[in-house]
Amino acid sequence: MLNKIPMTTPLVEMDGDEMTRILWQMIKEKLLLPFVDLKTEYYDLGLLHRNETEDRVTVEAAEATRKYGVAVKCATITPNRQRMEEYPQLTQMWKSPNGTIRSILDGTVFRAPILIDSILPVVRNWKKPITIARHAYGDVYKSVDLYTTEPGTATLTFRGVSGQEQTVTVQQVEGPAVWQGAHNKDSSIRSFARACFQYAIDTRQDLWFSTKDTIAKVYDGRFKAIFEEEYQEYQARFEQLGIRYFYTLIDDAVARVIRSEGGFIWACKNYDGDVMSDMVSTAFGSLAMMTSVLVAPDGTTEYEAAHGTVTRHYYRHLKGEQTSTNPMATIFAWSGALRKRGQLDKLSDLERFADQLEQACFDTLHAGLMTKDLAGLVEEGTPVTTLTSADFIDAIAARLKAALTAAHV
Ligand code: NAP
Ligand code: MG
Repeated sequence: MLNKIPMTTPLVEMDGDEMTRILWQMIKEKLLLPFVDLKTEYYDLGLLHRNETEDRVTVEAAEATRKYGVAVKCATITPNRQRMEEYPQLTQMWKSPNGTIRSILDGTVFRAPILIDSILPVVRNWKKPITIARHAYGDVYKSVDLYTTEPGTATLTFRGVSGQEQTVTVQQVEGPAVWQGAHNKDSSIRSFARACFQYAIDTRQDLWFSTKDTIAKVYDGRFKAIFEEEYQEYQARFEQLGIRYFYTLIDDAVARVIRSEGGFIWACKNYDGDVMSDMVSTAFGSLAMMTSVLVAPDGTTEYEAAHGTVTRHYYRHLKGEQTSTNPMATIFAWSGALRKRGQLDKLSDLERFADQLEQACFDTLHAGLMTKDLAGLVEEGTPVTTLTSADFIDAIAARLKAALTAAHV
């Protein structure tokens, strides 16, 4: 009999939607509960429960994350018009839970691919992972939009508490037009910069940062200037470690990234990071192999998969089909969170369990057992058995149990 690995402080657990909610349950049941005396504070961020609580549950989950320091989150639906038709009971087109959580916790999202030998990146020269550091606050994600139908002029006014005002004309238009007001804050950009420099030092990788400051001279120019200011404090440590910081325009960065070997952190503004992380993860193999962690300035961390709720698979699941949805990124969200909890609470067994869980995943993949998305990507000649999600998780569980039993003897 294996003794369950103890925990002291609870993890904040945020459940989610559709196929990932199904995987979430399987992962807990087969990979965690048999081995760990799992302590979580559970928040159901499933769309209908968010609706019932008027989205208070999302705010409560974010506040709990701040209290306990570590959270693990399942993918969730961000409702759009189509979802409003699909779920007629929705009283509002609720905002993205990730957006809400990010704006409460602030901080930076780091996304890195999980690499395995048998899957070569589409970009042949990529040898090492590329980590995308996505600024998690503001810009278009916290912007206001307006649609107008008559000729007229839009202005942008800032009213200071002192009573002073600054106004610029956005545009004069002759007909219907769309408008957007976006912002960011020095304090948030500064903590983004610091999180990136610190993460580069922790992982000993170069840091690239890109914006479009030739066009957005004031807006993006502010990002560039703050990064330069903050770098002064880290420069000596960068030089000691032989790593470097460099700034370039986003279009130049895109070209350089494609020509690179990988092995660096690419810091991006909120939208650039959203888009580029999907491109980078797909080129490395699969969205399902991309991990994501939100690091707040106070060290609070929230782990999740970078992909969504895998809707198309969920509809097949509802029809009674067994799907072959890849649980890797969701498993790694759990292992990341458990490892962090272990580090904070000085529970070395819990930390070791996180390593063993990840190793069991790698061993399973190396044995050629994988989900359909990966089976299509492995190098020719690699023997492959395509499994359903349930069978893949069972195969991982068997290896994990064997490793834990061997370590126990
Ligand atoms: P998605 O759920 O990431 O899925 C897009 C496609 O990528 C899938 O149809 C599937 O392709 C493939 N895929 C993604 N993850 C996979 C996995 N684990 N295993 C196998 N294949 C995988 O993106 P989406 O369809 O655009 O969005 C669905 C919902 O997720 C939306 O409601 C959106 O709001 C939400 N979303 C949530 C988050 C989050 O909570 N972090 C992030 C993004 C999107 P095939 O169908 O070709 O197999
Ligand atoms: Mg995205």
